[in-house]
Amino acid sequence: MTTTATTSTGPAIDKSLQHVYTEVLRRNPGEHEFHQAVEEVLTTLGPVVKRHPHYLAERVIERLCEPERQIIFRVPWTDDAGQVQINRGFRVEYSSVLGPFKGGLRFHPSVMLGTVKFLGFEQIFKNALTGLPIGGGKGGSDFDPKGRSDAEVMRFCQSFMTELYRHLGEYTDVPAGDIGVGGREIGYLFGQYKRITNRYEAGVLTGKGLAWGGSRARKEATGYGAVYFANEMARHAGLTLEGRDVVVSGSGNVAIYAIEKVTELGGRVVACSDSSGYVVDEGGIDLDLVKDIKEVRRERIGQYAKERRGGSARFVERGSIWDVPCEIALPCATQNELDEDAAHTLVGHGVDIVAEGANMPCTPGALRVFKEAGVLFGPGKAVNAGGVATSALEMQQNASRDSWTFDYTDNRLAAIMHNIHERVVTTAEDYGRPGDYVFGANASGFTAVADAMLAMGV
Ligand code: GLU
Repeated sequence: MTTTATTSTGPAIDKSLQHVYTEVLRRNPGEHEFHQAVEEVLTTLGPVVKRHPHYLAERVIERLCEPERQIIFRVPWTDDAGQVQINRGFRVEYSSVLGPFKGGLRFHPSVMLGTVKFLGFEQIFKNALTGLPIGGGKGGSDFDPKGRSDAEVMRFCQSFMTELYRHLGEYTDVPAGDIGVGGREIGYLFGQYKRITNRYEAGVLTGKGLAWGGSRARKEATGYGAVYFANEMARHAGLTLEGRDVVVSGSGNVAIYAIEKVTELGGRVVACSDSSGYVVDEGGIDLDLVKDIKEVRRERIGQYAKERRGGSARFVERGSIWDVPCEIALPCATQNELDEDAAHTLVGHGVDIVAEGANMPCTPGALRVFKEAGVLFGPGKAVNAGGVATSALEMQQNASRDSWTFDYTDNRLAAIMHNIHERVVTTAEDYGRPGDYVFGANASGFTAVADAMLAMGV
């Protein structure tokens, strides 16, 4: 699994938009993942600006490529040995035209400004696609929670929030989790926000525990939502998930609940992974065991092969999870985890649906391979929008001091994913590109944000 930059071999940017990309490269040197995310959007917007030339005249895309605000701060904290540690914190507030800045926090050693900008940029369009009133932002730190004690994670989160709190608010900026930030971290962050501000402002963070303002189905939402979307893609093409072999990369929050929903819908998940390697299980992944290893014990996935009853699983330390034959691939780990070679292997094995549970897990080269092979491809900003959509549902519950049932929330999530699918498919058809989910998602998300920006003036 890799998170390094790619050299794009994807489709080209339309001539009318090349100057935008040149300017992004000039202003943001070295931020490869951000360049990649911008390039991916720009390659699809040519027909949109041709139909709506005022987007070009008003320089809407250039404005969107420049975040409204970028915050970088020092996060000092003390480890269990009494040593002072210093990390860097980020919050990039991208666009607030559709609602308060909204997007997760990622704690991972690979996090730098360019990572947060790529994620924040994607978040603008993803959030717009949900049709809910949320703007786009993202944050995080190069802090690595792996191997840290609860007390260390708490002290780090308290220090992080001691700086960040002044920029947040339920009408201003509402963070949530992402890689390395789950219920435990949100708890420590919320506790510190409450203490500093003396306000029980539940709507300032999402992904909270159920007893203190969280939403049912939020934990499951990104994974479930991704599978609801993949299921819509399958149905639209006259296919089904039932009886199909599925590979889900990752074994974090997104992957776990994607595996759960695929299994519930009759698919068979044959492999999952973490950064130490992957497991193949011909008997179908035993999710209770994965949950125990990853969520409770916080151990590596290799443990799964040792403990799986019946011995149906094996652990592969080196190599790519995409070598495992499957008909449906759900990359749910991290950015650029599925490259051009992996895409060729998947196509060779007869994959017919690839849906991105993670943010930008497929490289531009992989996208091109899938396109040329006619594989149905669902981009992350549509496929994984269920997480942030359910965060918006959590904000609704907080604002009305209410708490909905699991079924009600899950039904709303399913309806939102259905609507996103409709919207993406219809937009693609409207532009004469049926089946092009990448185009449909970018064109539809962008148009919603661009129109709101124009309505509000420069
Ligand atoms: N980190 C998630 C995402 O990439 C969720 C963000 C949120 O709930 O605000 O969309």
